[in-house]
Amino acid sequence: MDGRLTPGSGGTFETLDPATEEVLGVAADGTADDMDQAIAAARRAFDSGTWSVDVAFRARCLRQLRDGLRRHADELRELTIKEVGAPRFLTYGAQLDGPVGDLGWFADLAESYEWSTGLGRAEPMGIPSERRVVREPVGVVGAITPWNFPHQINLAKLGPALAAGNTVVLKPAPDTPWCASVLGTIIAEETDIPAGVVNVVTSSDHALGARLTEDPRVDLVSFTGSTATGRNVMVSAAQTLKRVFLELGGKSAFIVLDDADLRAACSYAAFNVATHAGQGCAITTRLLVPRAAYDQAVEITAKSLRRIGVGDPNDDKTLCGPVISARQRDRVESYLELALKEGGSFACGGGRPADRDRGFWIEPTLITGLTNESRAAREEIFGPVLVILPYDGDDDAVRIANDSPYGLSGAVHGGDLERARGVAARLRTGTVSVNGGVWYAADVPFGGYKQSGVGREMGVAGFEEYLETKSIAEGIS
Ligand code: NAD
Repeated sequence: MDGRLTPGSGGTFETLDPATEEVLGVAADGTADDMDQAIAAARRAFDSGTWSVDVAFRARCLRQLRDGLRRHADELRELTIKEVGAPRFLTYGAQLDGPVGDLGWFADLAESYEWSTGLGRAEPMGIPSERRVVREPVGVVGAITPWNFPHQINLAKLGPALAAGNTVVLKPAPDTPWCASVLGTIIAEETDIPAGVVNVVTSSDHALGARLTEDPRVDLVSFTGSTATGRNVMVSAAQTLKRVFLELGGKSAFIVLDDADLRAACSYAAFNVATHAGQGCAITTRLLVPRAAYDQAVEITAKSLRRIGVGDPNDDKTLCGPVISARQRDRVESYLELALKEGGSFACGGGRPADRDRGFWIEPTLITGLTNESRAAREEIFGPVLVILPYDGDDDAVRIANDSPYGLSGAVHGGDLERARGVAARLRTGTVSVNGGVWYAADVPFGGYKQSGVGREMGVAGFEEYLETKSIAEGIS
């Protein structure tokens, strides 16, 4: 906070390794008082410093941060595997190296961005005027993040928010405080980012996030988390009419068209849902297959999921590690019970793996026999759980895919590219993958339609979420 490493006034709280339940150590337990000071520091740094107007300095600081994080990559990698339970292979991509590199993209964007656009002369109401539009930072950003991809989500907020000239108070999830503490430490000790520009408040108390949404000194809340919490954030932020940017949950569909390579498509769907134990908002968790191919698709997908199994996140070959906590495991298990009550059955998985007595584990699971009306097919489970649903024709596939309160992502696999593109175009979602294409990158806007979110993260659109627009007209005599 305010450029210093500060003990939490609530003492400390423990952070665990979800694969073993081993206590890794403790993190600072921030309180409402700490949050108050952090917001005050961010406000001061925005209102009194030159941070908000010095683009070249900000770009330099962002590159310094990227380089600092890269210097600590080995230590961060081990920490991420331990604290998040993230499979090692993912740390070479979206769990660590990807988002660290993306800071450079935001630095480049800040330097090349058209901060001021001339609109030329006009005579509105007969008064000669020279007009221009300038873009300015919004002010103090409250960033609230979840535990599933902590570096990716923390940096996808810090990168554009800082590049745009804002100051930030980051409140990470209580499950992954160390990922954020190390980030704060590197900022404080190894970059020229001025005091107060970034404040990280770790806490065991979820309610500290709510303080960011209520406080009138915060101009924008950038939230990633569940749709239920996102709704609370929006309600609370309405009291001070602050801007909200929400990245929420999903229940994305993976459509296998009848001319697709069924084996390749179903194996890919299994790989997708098992990755990081299904703890990704954009993971495809409903597999839609032609009715005639249903039984064969069940067989292929279940076989793939069984083969994937669960594994030690330390191991290079592991795809599906633990889920983050006992609470999350219980939540997934309650959905598995619900699926059975709703008339579903398990083609594979369905509970905890027999060979793991420590840690929080769920076997990769395929649920059959449900319709899209069941709660297990509609609600976000956030575990390695795939629901397979039959459809009759492309229109029906599109109807089922779109019959969801969510609209985050989706996938279409087909032999005829034009036809697959046509189906993808009809999906009401913020991202779509066609035939295995990967949209995740710094320059690609990411976000949700419907109850999956408001606004976009990443890309130029994501950067502009953190900007205000000011129009200036000068009278010409
Ligand atoms: P969560 O909503 O429980 O918590 C997210 C963050 O909000 C945490 O830091 C938490 O402490 C804080 N929080 C809790 N109550 C709050 C309140 N009333 N006001 C303000 N902040 C509050 O989510 P989670 O369990 O940490 O993460 C899993 C969820 O995140 C899933 O639903 C997943 O889909 C979603 N997610 C979405 C994206 C996306 O980009 N769309 C990315 C990752 C995760």
